[in-house]
Amino acid sequence: MVQRIRLVIHGGLIDHEDGEESRQPRREALQQILDAGYKVLESQDALQAVIQTCALLEDNPLFNAGTGATIQRDGQFRLSSGLMDGHRQSFSGVINGRLIKNPIYLAEKLQQFEDRLLDSTGVEIQARNLGLDVYDPATPELVNRWAEFRFTPRFTRSHGTVGAVAVDAQGKLAAATSTGGRFMAGAGRVSDSCTPAGNYANEACAVSCTGHGEDILDEALATRIVLRVTDGLSLDVAVERSFHEAKERSRDFAAICVDCDGNAHCAETIGLLVAAYRNDAGAFTTTL
Ligand code: ASP
Repeated sequence: MVQRIRLVIHGGLIDHEDGEESRQPRREALQQILDAGYKVLESQDALQAVIQTCALLEDNPLFNAGTGATIQRDGQFRLSSGLMDGHRQSFSGVINGRLIKNPIYLAEKLQQFEDRLLDSTGVEIQARNLGLDVYDPATPELVNRWAEFRFTPRFTRSHGTVGAVAVDAQGKLAAATSTGGRFMAGAGRVSDSCTPAGNYANEACAVSCTGHGEDILDEALATRIVLRVTDGLSLDVAVERSFHEAKERSRDFAAICVDCDGNAHCAETIGLLVAAYRNDAGAFTTTL
């Protein structure tokens, strides 16, 4: 059988009540980015496809990562990313990096180093060593929102995280995830996205998560799904079982997944996942 290639991307979770004015621009952005990502997947490999796709999602201010990333309670932007090369079984990432444009590109570069998961101090040093430009991810909209809510912090699901999972023509899998974290989270709080709970892949399956980071960590969600597939469950059953357990524990999150046969699965517990992929006939398919 010919190896089926697949790329699934996401731009976080929104509320079911969010209307067309919120859905339509996200749908359009997903379609453009998915098209660009497929070109990379067809000409290069799964790892490059998830990196390039994630960078495009980071560059789009509609999504909570890179430019347009959300802000912590002290008014600072702290960006995190995770990159998992499923073929080489190698994880790298950025924890609460500041003043960088594309945390996923830094995660990519870190794959060649011994120290592959850096906090803000390491990011500052390595980003400069590697010649990455100083970049302020703030948008006026986010700074204004912070100013509005700084004395009355409140939970909102209106942002999310971005991510991509892919399997290439050689059957190699990869996962990339990037985030600004939670709006008005406490200073220095760390997202799940830079951990194998939020972003994981091996030779059987690749998963990227979004949603309440602490819930994702508690369930070790990405790793849980990947290991279930590795141990022989079909992707559908692995995801359904993991989400059934999560719903019983009132978790708030979502995941996109692919397996080595090119099957795709997207799932959420309560919010509405902003995700897209091409179906078997090659048609753009979205969860929005
Ligand atoms: N998972 C991210 C975090 O908890 C945010 C999100 O996906 O909504 O930082």
